[in-house]
Amino acid sequence: MTLDDRVAKFVRQLAAAVEAVGTESGSPADVDLEAPDATPELAELADAFNQMLDRIRAQRTEIEERDVAFRSALNRLGDALTVTHDRSGIISAVLETSALSVGATCGVFYAVAPAGGALRAMSCYRCELEGNQLDAGEGVAGAAVARDDVVHVPGGAELSPSEPIADAAVAIPLRRGNHAIGVLALYGRGPAEQFSDDDVHLLQSLMHQAETAIENTFLYEEATRLSITDGLTGLWNRRLFDLRINEELQRAVRFQEPFGLLLVDLDHFKSVNDQFGHQAGDAVLVELARRLTDATREVDVVTRFGGEEFALILPKTPVQGTMRLAGKVREVVAKEPFAAGDASIAVTVSVGAAAYPDHGLSGPDLLAAADGALYRAKGNGRNRVEEAEPGGRQVPRGAGASR
Ligand code: GH3
Ligand code: MG
Ligand code: MG
Repeated sequence: MTLDDRVAKFVRQLAAAVEAVGTESGSPADVDLEAPDATPELAELADAFNQMLDRIRAQRTEIEERDVAFRSALNRLGDALTVTHDRSGIISAVLETSALSVGATCGVFYAVAPAGGALRAMSCYRCELEGNQLDAGEGVAGAAVARDDVVHVPGGAELSPSEPIADAAVAIPLRRGNHAIGVLALYGRGPAEQFSDDDVHLLQSLMHQAETAIENTFLYEEATRLSITDGLTGLWNRRLFDLRINEELQRAVRFQEPFGLLLVDLDHFKSVNDQFGHQAGDAVLVELARRLTDATREVDVVTRFGGEEFALILPKTPVQGTMRLAGKVREVVAKEPFAAGDASIAVTVSVGAAAYPDHGLSGPDLLAAADGALYRAKGNGRNRVEEAEPGGRQVPRGAGASR
């Protein structure tokens, strides 16, 4: 073959390769050009062409990977927005989808502190800044909250040294009601590329979905809280007691740990109502709830069991400790009269105490044991504590002294 023939062959190969790369289905994967010997210019061209192919291959792989990541993020987002009441799950799904959909290098969701407006990195995508703090107004994220609007870098704000390093950034507030409770901040794109108006519209629509889903988590929590708390005293209610005593029993069995149970009933409360009125009676119940909470540890479960009767679950507390706390409860009630409006009302309580495993091995047995003890405390003169009988012997309720 003459040199001309070899050059002509090379040019044909080049043309075919260019066509393969140019068509959508053409895969540049298996093309590699080799220039004829002794043609330095063609060798240079072949090199440049091969390098271009390498870049295209790398870009394709990156696009394919991003596509897979984006699809899976979209699926997670769909799940998070529709089926979960988990706020941080929703936030990380929105953050990830937002960053992928506008090609940001990394992103942070900052929560805004209700007082003072400081920002705390709550969720991060492709950076590790969880827990990082920004002052109110600091960086692109702080500026977006302060202005309650979308803020760009460059042009709108300066990045803080505590934010990721980037040429471009955009931050969008997440609102609840009429104020921002968080901000989504995305950092970095291709070299010198800004986030466009289209990007911002897409992000705003994602944030809008997130706001609705997050509002639902708050509503759900509030409904849950209302269903297990007592409206008058703010204590847990009987429903929560039933749930917790079962949990406590499971834990006690698994770890071979004791726990205590107190039933506390106001003495002659009917006459308090009769003498001072129902409203004063209510005030006594609220004050009693406060004294019970103050007298107990954080881990203890103080519940309004019904009417003027309270039940306390004391985790990891054996009989002696349970009796000690029962005595303390009786004392903190009796030692000082209760203020109800202008009236000062002296009240007392009777307390029945039981403990797992000494007085019963099931919830109903323990309750019956504590109830029996309470009944004895009433019968023995009120304003006193009685311990349940071993084995949780049941005493029928309502026989004898009134409760
Ligand atoms: P005992 O010492 O035997 O327990 O006598 P008692 O009067 O406390 O018991 P009784 O069961 O006869 O009466 C309970 C009273 O508690 C009657 C009821 O009106 C009152 N009570 C129950 N729930 C509330 C409430 O939410 N607010 C007010 N003000 N009173 C309540
Ligand atoms: Mg009573
Ligand atoms: Mg009662």
